[in-house]
Amino acid sequence: MSNENNIYVTRPFLPPLGELMPSLERIWKSRDLTNGAMFHQEFERALALYLGVPYVSLFANATLALVTALQCLRISGEVITTPYSFVATAHSLLWNGIEPVFVDIDPKTLALDASRVEAAITPRTTAIMPVHVYGRPADVEGMQRVADNYGLKIIYDAAHTFGARYRGESLATFGDLSVLSFHATKVFNTFEGGAIVCHDAQTKQRIDFLKNFGFADEVTVVASGINGKMNEFQAALGLVQLQHIGDCIAKRAVIAARYDEAFSKIDGIGVLEMLPDYVPNYSYYPIFVDAGYPLVRDALYSRLREAGIFGRRYFYPLISDFPMYRGRPSAAKNTLSVAHRVANAVICLPIYPELSSTDQQRVVRIVRGD
Ligand SMILES: *Cc1c(COP(=O)(O)O)cnc(C)c1O
Repeated sequence: MSNENNIYVTRPFLPPLGELMPSLERIWKSRDLTNGAMFHQEFERALALYLGVPYVSLFANATLALVTALQCLRISGEVITTPYSFVATAHSLLWNGIEPVFVDIDPKTLALDASRVEAAITPRTTAIMPVHVYGRPADVEGMQRVADNYGLKIIYDAAHTFGARYRGESLATFGDLSVLSFHATKVFNTFEGGAIVCHDAQTKQRIDFLKNFGFADEVTVVASGINGKMNEFQAALGLVQLQHIGDCIAKRAVIAARYDEAFSKIDGIGVLEMLPDYVPNYSYYPIFVDAGYPLVRDALYSRLREAGIFGRRYFYPLISDFPMYRGRPSAAKNTLSVAHRVANAVICLPIYPELSSTDQQRVVRIVRGD
């Protein structure tokens, strides 16, 4: 049961309804509901401009976009990926009949450790699928070096990265393809939604065929594509949401700064350090409960819940521990020790534009133990 005093890890931002009405009236009048109509085209252009990326292809959600990105580059065999993510990352591989090979994470970025990738490459390896965890950059240079040396593709699960920048560029611009999510729980939402970012017109065209059953024209089908299209309602909402994203990220920054200040004084609670050349989107606020804290992680997690504060243990359990993955040699616990340590320490605390300072105080007080 939802209680109005409860505080959840996120509360999706929605614009005032009035701002959406003119678009809805246009959709109702035109009866153009989907299939790459006006709002879809306009939203793709607006996103490419906002993100500063060459090409954007909209999707109904990021999971379909991940599945399609792998199809687009004809990835097969084995793909090296991280256990520390949302299950959709590895599921997209299984949906393509690809063997996921898990490699441990870097304790600093919490993303796939580029220095361990090389040792996991076999003749069947065709790609690397890292995640920019919490919207913070994976080691994009290290990853690219390995990929170039071994002739591998890189598809980034960039689901958390909306608005985050690295070295002056959108974090969604690295690798061969990057996949964004606009799910309700993300920094930027269209209820459900996603996109693939790519770097040339031919690749965009292939992605657009693949997301529309493989249709190249009315009578030509060039691939066994899927239905991954974003509809006009989602695209119209996205255009309105884009007007608010700057303000939303600014409000998140204020909340993150207050948490930083509070937790710097609490023994046994670790927070992520800032990375160089990085402009965050403050999409998540993870804390890490270590041995210096009076409670173990799950005890703090329960204490928060008893107080009506619903943090989330992103990402626990690790993907490699779910039944469809755990039998693999690369899923063995001793090869993924950093990921296990982090997954057993993390709690993501509430952070969203409308989180009041009073509610944030409630969260801090529980963690502080008063
Ligand atoms: C949310 C998320 C996804 C899935 O996105 P959907 O749009 O819900 O399909 C994939 N990967 C990561 C890391 C995510 O957080």
